[in-house]
Amino acid sequence: MKTYTFGPHLIRASQVFFLSKKCFGFVNLKPVANGRILLLTTFVYRDLNSDEDGPEAGQTVPHCHLHIIPRKVGDWANNDDIYGEIDKSTKVDNEERPPRSFEEMEKEANFLRSFFQSDDMNYN
Ligand code: AMP
Repeated sequence: MKTYTFGPHLIRASQVFFLSKKCFGFVNLKPVANGRILLLTTFVYRDLNSDEDGPEAGQTVPHCHLHIIPRKVGDWANNDDIYGEIDKSTKVDNEERPPRSFEEMEKEANFLRSFFQSDDMNYN
């Protein structure tokens, strides 16, 4: 099975919806909002130092990445309450937000993949 490295985690190709030479996008194991996805570099980004990239910024996986979280009016009563939800979602044993199944993640990745066309893509 083809996998990609995300810090200490292995991401299945079926979770990936976009792939280029330098970055790829995949669906989240524990999304706090519908459509929350991750974009990350295919290489380890060595130029960032600990002041720019680390736990102080809320990062739990040591691999340079961006979160994209679609927001809707009124999704959280107070706009910044989402950060509390994000904290909960990163706790491995949090029962309020169990990890999604591979089937569920693959379904979302298939949907998102349909918006992209790239010769670089290879999901096998
Ligand atoms: P951060 O806390 O900013 O480093 O974000 C790490 C993100 O990676 C969290 O949103 C997790 O839900 C997500 N995550 C961790 N492991 C996996 C995985 N195997 N597949 C997909 N997303 C993951």
